[in-house]
Amino acid sequence: MIKLEKKYDVIIVGTGVAGLNCALNISPDKSVLVICKETPDKSDSYLAQGGICRLPEEGDYQCYFDDTMRAGHYENNPVTVDAMIRGSQEVIDDLIGYGVDFARNPDGSLAYTKEGGHSRPRICFHEDTTGREITTHLMAAARARRNILIVPYVTMLDIICDDKACYGIVAKDGKNGRLYRLFADYTVLASGGIGGIFENSTNFRVLTGDALAICLNHGVAVDHINYIQIHPTTLYSKKKGRRFLISESVRGEGAVLLDKNFQRFTDELKPRDVVTAAMREQMKKDGTDFVWLDMRPIPREEVISHFPGIVQHCLNEGYDVFRECIPVVPAQHYFMGGIRSDTNGATTMPRLYAVGETCCNGVHGKNRLASNSLLESLLFAKRAAQDINSHYSPEDISAAKAAEAALDISKYSNPTKLLREYKQIVHSAIDAENAKCAEAQAAKEEA
Ligand SMILES: Cc1cc2nc3c(=O)[nH]c(=O)nc-3n(C[C@H](O)[C@H](O)[C@H](O)COP(=O)(O)OP(=O)(O)OC[C@H]3O[C@@H](n4cnc5c(N)ncnc54)[C@H](O)[C@@H]3O)c2cc1C
Repeated sequence: MIKLEKKYDVIIVGTGVAGLNCALNISPDKSVLVICKETPDKSDSYLAQGGICRLPEEGDYQCYFDDTMRAGHYENNPVTVDAMIRGSQEVIDDLIGYGVDFARNPDGSLAYTKEGGHSRPRICFHEDTTGREITTHLMAAARARRNILIVPYVTMLDIICDDKACYGIVAKDGKNGRLYRLFADYTVLASGGIGGIFENSTNFRVLTGDALAICLNHGVAVDHINYIQIHPTTLYSKKKGRRFLISESVRGEGAVLLDKNFQRFTDELKPRDVVTAAMREQMKKDGTDFVWLDMRPIPREEVISHFPGIVQHCLNEGYDVFRECIPVVPAQHYFMGGIRSDTNGATTMPRLYAVGETCCNGVHGKNRLASNSLLESLLFAKRAAQDINSHYSPEDISAAKAAEAALDISKYSNPTKLLREYKQIVHSAIDAENAKCAEAQAAKEEA
């Protein structure tokens, strides 16, 4: 069993693409602890199917920028959108450097696929398991680094902080049941989305927005907590548990949505929120719990080479996509809001960073454009690491000890109860924000 030390230079909470890429970009002379709630593959990064965007050529810049802004209802932060697009080629180069195998054209150039909301193909992919391909290589690279320690089954229950800075975390080791107070000069929250608080979600159930609740408790700014994305196409099932995603690139490659009479009823390549609304309206009209997705317009060879995981999963559930339509239904998928972070991942609390899906830097606005998430997570995680490297200074030990002494340890005696309370905090914050937005809308309409 790995024994945790009391102090690290950097602690990173999360082993998705954001946590791993941050760790890989911290100076090799700094000790880095990376923790995750269960095993490292229980991250949404591992599940990503469709792919990761890359600016294919300079001439596409404006179009890619406009697609991202349009999907986000122009509520995006143009500064972070620009940084993401400009940094996309470097991110893909880094990944290839780690050994990630993206699909290629016969001439060896990168092959691009298309998804809803994109005006042209600009998405790099590896079959329909892009996330697994990327995460596996990042994990191998991180494990090979002497300065990075990755410890599974360790759950962050709180941060150690005062009104001046963050000094580390309180964490519970799920294997030996021990409670740790772990100090760090810098703490990075890379703890993913909030799908685990919803009944129907494509996310792993362990992703319950703990970091978000902790930040809300400590007055760290959080933005747009009610900006939650519903993915139009998950495989309909009466079973409980995580919903299986049918990647948007299936529609990008030609699959169509059909009503109960097997008639098309919408443009399948509109942004996710638009397609979801059309599906819900159709289901209401038809009195059904799902609509049909027909993958047969996609050439058979393309389906076999590009979507083997989806084909197999559907077969396991009793559907042969080559012969029949599959039932699909919208489900919670992504969280556009989150812990407020700047272009370098810094939160409003000194020495505390937030990267990946748990943060909100405004890239996605009100609705994320497909395949921008892996890219955004990787890019801003690298920038956070670079920011830490360039401003590195040790924490104030006496302040850290005072913050530790002020902790009410009894609060952590029942982690299950505490994590349940955290879920409730997130739910309540979402409800409060929704109510505020509805009030503002009503006032606008009245004026
Ligand atoms: C089915 C599916 C398909 C997707 N497809 C795509 C796609 O094709 N392209 C794209 O761009 N995006 C896609 N996304 C979205 C994308 O995968 C995620 O937004 C992105 O991977 C988030 O990365 P992350 O590193 O921020 O979080 P994650 O990869 O979710 O990692 C979160 C980590 O935090 C840890 N953690 C959480 N809470 C705690 C705690 N309290 N203590 C310790 N550890 C904790 C977890 O254990 C986990 O290791 C998809 C998402 C899903 C669910």
